[in-house]
Amino acid sequence: MSMIIKSREEIELMRESALLVSKTLGMLASRIKPGVTSLELDKLAEEFIRDHNAIPGFLGMYNFPNTLCMSPNAQVVHGIPNNTPLESGDIISIDCGVLKNEFYGDHAYTFEVGEVSEDVKRLLEVSKASLYKGIEQCKVGNRIGDIGYAIQKHCEDAGYGVVRELVGHGLGKTLHEDPQVPNYGKRGRGKKIVEGLVLAIEPMINMGTKRTRFLKDGWTVLTKDNKPSAHFEHDVAVIDGEPEILSTFDYIYEALGITSDEEKPFKK
Ligand code: MG
Ligand code: MG
Repeated sequence: MSMIIKSREEIELMRESALLVSKTLGMLASRIKPGVTSLELDKLAEEFIRDHNAIPGFLGMYNFPNTLCMSPNAQVVHGIPNNTPLESGDIISIDCGVLKNEFYGDHAYTFEVGEVSEDVKRLLEVSKASLYKGIEQCKVGNRIGDIGYAIQKHCEDAGYGVVRELVGHGLGKTLHEDPQVPNYGKRGRGKKIVEGLVLAIEPMINMGTKRTRFLKDGWTVLTKDNKPSAHFEHDVAVIDGEPEILSTFDYIYEALGITSDEEKPFKK
């Protein structure tokens, strides 16, 4: 497989798909509270996406049963929504995909439920910061390894484990396109980053060991030591040689009353 380069027009369509995911996550943000179940949130997301003339991107993909991947606490990714109420102190990683205008959007955020411990807050902060460290490297002249190196260094310096088994990816008319984008790597290694490339960059960062295990459902990935894990994902296009984030956490921040200029360097 080789990388599929997108035209400016295609990137604008991809921005629409990415922003619909952003809006879906924003809609969910104010509803994530103790007592709510992931299955209730999943249904809301499915309705919201269909109301916006799009198709849930994960539903039925490789036979995944739901609209959202919802992974609380020690679940890294690919958790299946269920009827267990969220509790204060939980975190929940929500990964959402849509298919609109034939292009996929795919991005993720780890939410706090109620009051979360300082340890966990730090995990979320460091993991999210590492996403931007990776995005910064997503420019012409660099290679895929530069992205992974930046993410890995930032998280390992903080004492966290970087998941190896799951990686970011090219994004387009297919959910997972070439190249794979590991969250670890060596500077100057891997494929060259070129104009028109669109990547889903998505650090999966564990408070403890980097090692993971699978639940019997065949989907859910958990940390081996049962310590919490965080997941943040943006869709990023290379435009005029530089990274531009097509998705945004702004809708989430608006719902939660957070102000942030973290995306500003990567917006035109
Ligand atoms: Mg995703
Ligand atoms: Mg992805």
